Amino acid sequence: MHLTSAPGPIRWGDPPNSLPSCSSILHSVSDKHQLHTPHGARHKQSMAAVEDIVIAGAGLAGLATALGLHRKGVRSLVLESSATLRASGYAFNTWTNAFRALDALGVGDKIREHHLLYERLVAFSASTGEAAAKVSLKMQGKSGPHEIRCVKRNFLLETLENELPEGTIRYSSKIVAIEEEGNVKLLHMADGSTIRANVLVGCDGVNSVVAKWLGLPKPILSGRSATRGLAEYPYGHGFGPEILQFIGQGFRSGVLPCSDTSVYWNYTWYPSPDDGDAEESVAKMRQYVLTKLRAASIPAEALDVIERSEMSDVVSAQVPVPAGAGPGQHQQGQRVRGRRRVPPDDAGAGAGRLRGAGGRRRPRPVPRRGLRRRRERRRVRVRHSGA
Ligand SMILES: Cc1cc2nc3c(=O)[nH]c(=O)nc-3n(C[C@H](O)[C@H](O)[C@H](O)COP(=O)(O)OP(=O)(O)OC[C@H]3O[C@@H](n4cnc5c(N)ncnc54)[C@H](O)[C@@H]3O)c2cc1C
Repeated sequence: MHLTSAPGPIRWGDPPNSLPSCSSILHSVSDKHQLHTPHGARHKQSMAAVEDIVIAGAGLAGLATALGLHRKGVRSLVLESSATLRASGYAFNTWTNAFRALDALGVGDKIREHHLLYERLVAFSASTGEAAAKVSLKMQGKSGPHEIRCVKRNFLLETLENELPEGTIRYSSKIVAIEEEGNVKLLHMADGSTIRANVLVGCDGVNSVVAKWLGLPKPILSGRSATRGLAEYPYGHGFGPEILQFIGQGFRSGVLPCSDTSVYWNYTWYPSPDDGDAEESVAKMRQYVLTKLRAASIPAEALDVIERSEMSDVVSAQVPVPAGAGPGQHQQGQRVRGRRRVPPDDAGAGAGRLRGAGGRRRPRPVPRRGLRRRRERRRVRVRHSGA
């Protein structure tokens, strides 16, 4: 999320004391809302065309921000480029912290009601079919028990949208350029109109126009691709409350029941010219994934999920690296021909460290200088001790 407010853009990495806290922004905005004196009314009238808070993008970040503000009694306007809520996509693993945020927004229990609570993660070697690791997910965290569920994307987006006051989201409203006029941000819209904002919050996804305006670096892609789908089992699927992962043979794949009747799956891999025309259509991508999984030791129930699933028109997407990943952990800007980019996903969540299961070894980051020196000294000591 990217936040700008008067008097100038705030950049992540600015020293903390140079940033107004979120709460101070909220306070100053709330104060303005309370200006109901005749003088205040006159003031508001002369500024009628200026929105206090504009949020770019009605994705998860934008809707959650708008709802958080609404719960504090602060109005915001969300500008969304598409004509309707982009509720396509399938699901994502949602962890304890996310549920704390959803609780703060007042929607946690609604999400819980419709999604299974996981008890364990089982990682299988795709080469041998054996369970290489079993991890209980019932362990206690710092502030209570862990809570992990696979939440359907459309359900989450619609739940957030339904909690917002009518008129908060303005659809078919694409911001194409941003300028500053004193303390006000001028948002130039695709239809030629202009919207003025005191505070602009960038929640406009991986190709954010707000981030570009702030001069933030472009997203970095991991070089891995991901594809996914969702299968419905009207009479129940028979999977337990567990995340199943299959790792090895050049891929990582997960099968995650969302509820008693729906199961999400994902598949990530490093693309290569051998993939052929898999990217051309949903049918070809499904066939590609099934061929890879059938050649490995994957149980029939997991294959059935993929066979009967619905898949998106965006057949695959490149996975951006997590913020803060070090050098050697990514390939900057790598793109594969004909592929569209969509925002991050959770396709590999939890699988990264299970190399023992046959997963692809990640490139190690270059050690920092101090660490290199310490390692070097240790090697010298070991040599001198004759080991
Ligand atoms: C359609 C879709 C399907 C997905 N499916 C899955 C999935 O099944 N599993 C998974 O793990 N992850 C999925 N993801 C990724 C996951 O949802 C994202 O990591 C998460 O949504 C990021 O949320 P966000 O709010 O930051 O950005 P986004 O969800 O990308 O939301 C950004 C919003 O801003 C809007 N926008 C962009 N530019 C502008 C502009 N200039 N002016 C106005 N509005 C603008 C976009 O239309 C979009 O609605 C999907 C993402 C998308 C967009």
